[in-house]
Amino acid sequence: MIDALRHLLCRSDLVYAGLLTTWETKRWTTGSVERFFEMGLLRHAAAATSIRFDGCDNGCIVTPLIVTHARTGERFGVYGCPEGECGMVHIPLDDLRQWSFDMLATARAVAKAIGSSGEVVEDVPDRLVAMGSVVIADVRRDVFLARGMDWDDAEVVMADARHLKAAAAPLVLVLANLPEHPIWPDCKPALAVLEEMVSLDENGLVVDLSLVIGRPTKPHPDAMESEWLTVTAAAELLVSEDVIDDLDFKRAKARISRAATSGRFMTNGEQGAARRVESGSFSKWVLEQRSKNLEKFC
Ligand SMILES: [Zn+2]
Repeated sequence: MIDALRHLLCRSDLVYAGLLTTWETKRWTTGSVERFFEMGLLRHAAAATSIRFDGCDNGCIVTPLIVTHARTGERFGVYGCPEGECGMVHIPLDDLRQWSFDMLATARAVAKAIGSSGEVVEDVPDRLVAMGSVVIADVRRDVFLARGMDWDDAEVVMADARHLKAAAAPLVLVLANLPEHPIWPDCKPALAVLEEMVSLDENGLVVDLSLVIGRPTKPHPDAMESEWLTVTAAAELLVSEDVIDDLDFKRAKARISRAATSGRFMTNGEQGAARRVESGSFSKWVLEQRSKNLEKFC
C-alpha cells in the first residue's frame, strides 16, 4: 500500500497524468477514493474504455465490450484477450471508474486546514488558487495553492495571476513539484511543497505551515505601490482625516502600530520600518475610529 494522499498530490502535479484510474487506486488504502470524493478532492469522470487489467497474465491493456447478463441483469465488460493464456476475461464495471482532481475544492480543504481568512478564489483556472491569508507568530502571508509550476507553460499562465500580483506577502504552496526556474519575472513569492507537510485525520486535511511561514517573500511591484502604505503614510492619513481629537503625527504613528500589532487591520506581517498597512482594511478601521469619536458627543 502507498500513501494515497501523497500519491494523489504528486500525480496531480504531473503534466500528462490524465484521469485517475481504478488501476492506480488499487494500491491505495481501502476507502481512500471514497474519502477524497467526499472531501471534494476528486470528481467523477467518464468511465474508461480501455484499462490495464490485472487479471491478465501480462497486465494487458484491454478494451472490454459492455454486456448485460441475460439472466441476472448484471452489467459487466468482456474481452477476449489475444495475449498468452488470458482468454476471455470478465471486467467488473467498477474497474472502469475514473476520477479527476479538483484543484479548487482541494484549495478549499487546504484553506480550512491552515485556518486562513479571506476568500478562496481561483486566480488561474485549474492552476493557481488564492486561499486568503494566515498569520502565524506575527508573520502574515497570502497563501496560494499552485499546480504545474514546472510545466512548460507555467511562465505564460502565471502572467495572468492577478491575485498573486496584488499579494503583499505571497506564499505559494505547490502540490508536489517546485518550479525549475523562476516563473514570476517581477516577484519572488515564498515557496513550499504541500505534499511534504500534509496529512489526513478524521476532520480532513492537516497542514502545518509553521516551518515555512517565515520564508522570505518578495511581492510584485504592483502590490507594493497600489495597496500597501508605510506606517508613516498611514499616520499622515489618520491625522489629515481629523477623526481623533488632538492627534499629532507622533501619536498617530503609535496608535497605528498598536492597532496593527493587535490585528485591527491587515499588515504585511513585518515589524518596524518594513511594516506595511493594507489600505482597504486600514480605511475601514479609520471609519470605525470616526464613529467611536462621534459617539462620545451623542
Ligand atoms: Zn491478457
